[in-house]
Amino acid sequence: MVSMPPGLDPQRTIRDLEELRSLTADARGAQRVAFTPTWRAARAWLRERFAGLPVEMHEDAAGNLWTTLRGTSDRALVIGSHIDSVPNGGWLDGCLGLLSGVEVLRRICHEHPSGPPVTVRVVDWADEEGARFGKSLFGSAACSGNLDLDEARVLVDKQGVTLPDALRGVGIDFERVKESGRELATAAAYLELHIEQGPVLLDLGLPMGAVLGTFGVERHAITFHGQAAHSGSTPMNRRHDAFLAAARMAPECYAIAARSGGGVCTIGSCTTKPGIVTSVVEECRITLDQRHLDAAALATMLAEARAAAERFAAEGGVSVSWERLWHIAPAPFHPDLVSFADEAVRETCGTSHRLPSGPLHDAAEMAMAGVPTVMLFVQSLGGISHNKIEDTRREHLELAVQALDRLATKTMAWIANATT
Ligand SMILES: [Zn+2]
Repeated sequence: MVSMPPGLDPQRTIRDLEELRSLTADARGAQRVAFTPTWRAARAWLRERFAGLPVEMHEDAAGNLWTTLRGTSDRALVIGSHIDSVPNGGWLDGCLGLLSGVEVLRRICHEHPSGPPVTVRVVDWADEEGARFGKSLFGSAACSGNLDLDEARVLVDKQGVTLPDALRGVGIDFERVKESGRELATAAAYLELHIEQGPVLLDLGLPMGAVLGTFGVERHAITFHGQAAHSGSTPMNRRHDAFLAAARMAPECYAIAARSGGGVCTIGSCTTKPGIVTSVVEECRITLDQRHLDAAALATMLAEARAAAERFAAEGGVSVSWERLWHIAPAPFHPDLVSFADEAVRETCGTSHRLPSGPLHDAAEMAMAGVPTVMLFVQSLGGISHNKIEDTRREHLELAVQALDRLATKTMAWIANATT
């Protein structure tokens, strides 16, 4: 196995994670819900991790905590994740990436006592989980500029408290959160290490992988309109069966996904009217959720599904209408950084694997803001997260810190070369 760079101590990261757990978890799991007193305590503890290092710290207009180690160049490598958790959360989601970033920063300080060639920053994004207001990626979306202020302004928690009021309670002016975006002026690359939260690496028997990007999503309701008719008296050739047309969509959408090169699809709901056993279906509404890492491939999946719906409607003597329920563009990561991530994992673990991310992460906001971005995933035991049983093998956690460190070194050289 590879030698450890002087100043890097992955076991210290595990001790940090255990200490954070003992401070902020109870019998049900982690309780670091954003903007609560426990989250504040976790933040104060996080600040202490940087004690003795030559860094500057501040919270930006959206409540994100930035720690900066000045380098010869202002161009900055940013390493980020989130210390907030869902209620009853796990001990690694978010804080693994953050505390590994702290460890990498310690190593860089050790290697460059008079300052590194490029600036290095660690960011703790505010309210990644969206547990209280149902809006994920709050801090990073404010920073990227993608946050819809009109939509966010009216969000309320279970107690009826609005998001702007909750933010005022922790000293954040909602109307100014997008001023956070100025933090990205010097950002040259963004790295994030995260637990996979799924079973792909576990099933492959691999500790780590390089993440290609986050999926784009097209989510639609498709309604077929036919004619209700008696189930006994209506000959088969005289029917306008809305369900028959809708049902033919299921194998077709699977076939579309299969030829899309890595896309997935789900028909998650189906309702019929009149919905009785003695009538041909007059109206059938299905929902279709299609996902792909590539925007053009996702557009093709959608176009093919639309064409299939028209064809099945025409063949069945029914009509069809579409309604878009939700949509988000894919956030592919930077090809150079994906290569570095792949190398860093291979050099650290022996084997690497490239995989897309199903869940969204703060990294998606950075990629959409135009900052060259990549993520590393480390295996999740049981593929389980957002649960107190969430876990990863100790040796995999140690490998993850080392891989992030290698990736940081490669990325700093890449930034320095681009600058000169
Ligand atoms: Zn997370």
